[in-house]
Amino acid sequence: MNPNLDETESFGIIRKEVDLTNKEKQYLLAVERGDVPTTRQIVEQFKVNNFNINCIDTLGRTAILIAIENENIEMIELLLNNGIEIGDALLHAINEENVEAVEMILHYEISNKGEEVITILIQVPSTSFSADITPIILAGHRDNYEIIKLLLSLGCRITKPHDIRCNCKQCVAGNDDDSLRHSRSRINSYKALASPSLISLSSKDPILTAFELCADLRRLSKLENEFKIDYEKLSLKCQEFAVDLLEQTRGSSELHIILNHDTNSTADENYTERQRLARLKVAIKYKQKKFVSHPNCQQLLASLWYEGLPGFRRKNVVAKICIIQAIGFMFPILSLCYLLIPTCFLGQLIRKPFIKFIIHSASYITFLCKFIFIYILNYRENLLFHEKYDNNLKSKIYTRQIYATLRSNIRKNETFGIFIHILVYNEGSSMTHWVNNKAQS
Ligand SMILES: [Zn+2]
Repeated sequence: MNPNLDETESFGIIRKEVDLTNKEKQYLLAVERGDVPTTRQIVEQFKVNNFNINCIDTLGRTAILIAIENENIEMIELLLNNGIEIGDALLHAINEENVEAVEMILHYEISNKGEEVITILIQVPSTSFSADITPIILAGHRDNYEIIKLLLSLGCRITKPHDIRCNCKQCVAGNDDDSLRHSRSRINSYKALASPSLISLSSKDPILTAFELCADLRRLSKLENEFKIDYEKLSLKCQEFAVDLLEQTRGSSELHIILNHDTNSTADENYTERQRLARLKVAIKYKQKKFVSHPNCQQLLASLWYEGLPGFRRKNVVAKICIIQAIGFMFPILSLCYLLIPTCFLGQLIRKPFIKFIIHSASYITFLCKFIFIYILNYRENLLFHEKYDNNLKSKIYTRQIYATLRSNIRKNETFGIFIHILVYNEGSSMTHWVNNKAQS
């Protein structure tokens, strides 16, 4: 333990103000100036005497922290070789994103303490950082790929914070002890977990991890209103990371692999020709608007949507309307082909999304027209009937009978027509779809 630091129960680590001797002042000045020969001379000269190599300046910095701030690697090496105390130098080096210094300090710690180094990596007592900031969390905050990789290789991990509604002993105690610190430590953990470098290095499926984390953060932004802005920023960061990954795709085959990837399926199932779009469905489930609306995604969806009608999008409006009308009018023939010979060319054509959409629309329009037709027919018949028999006092019962007979005759014919319609075009299509799937499997 550094003699300049004091540990108290309630506040953690507190720094003692100590008056510096002239030589200590000279030593710190030499380190500040980056004067390696003078520093070496002072250290070696006073090594035998009562010289405090760990002395701190008025800003609370030890010599190694000054060297880290100045990115003076030679000086750091000199100080480490002379046995300076590390303290929270590792955290400062990570904070400054000084990869070389981090490597040197870790190497020094491993050679001195061996396996004990893991405990240092889990918690570093510090005057500058709160107790929940571990080296890997800080590296996540800085999003430094090299430092995160280094720490992960040493076995450092970030545990996901407990659910906000968790009532376990640890959470209750943490909340009772200091609710602000408890909330802050949750944010600090999530801030590190949302680091793109950390997700890339630690997750097998970075896009899915980003989606899940984004959903968690969005939920937390609603539950912890006080930190809503912080959580929303992190949620957006995750969303943008997934979009950045999607943007890296260089061609349709890569896009096909990304959008059809399903974590639960085997590798062979993921590389089939059939477009399952499992990842896209997951994106919709997690409300990843930016991901779904990305041009790469939309390009693939548009090419799938207009499959079977090559060059349709480049045609003028009149040609488009003509094609749609032709397919719409042909829907009974196409539906019958699909029903009877699903494997033929026309049967396969109807499976294409846009053609399927036109046929479904045509089918429903016909269905609606039949209803409107019945309504108009009934209405007209009603009018004629009243005109003819309104003043006829002698046969009210007779008129009712005729009216009912007429209506039931019309209904019988039309109902039968509609029944056939539903059976063939709606129920039939789903049944054929099932038969088709069976035949294919
Ligand atoms: Zn808990």
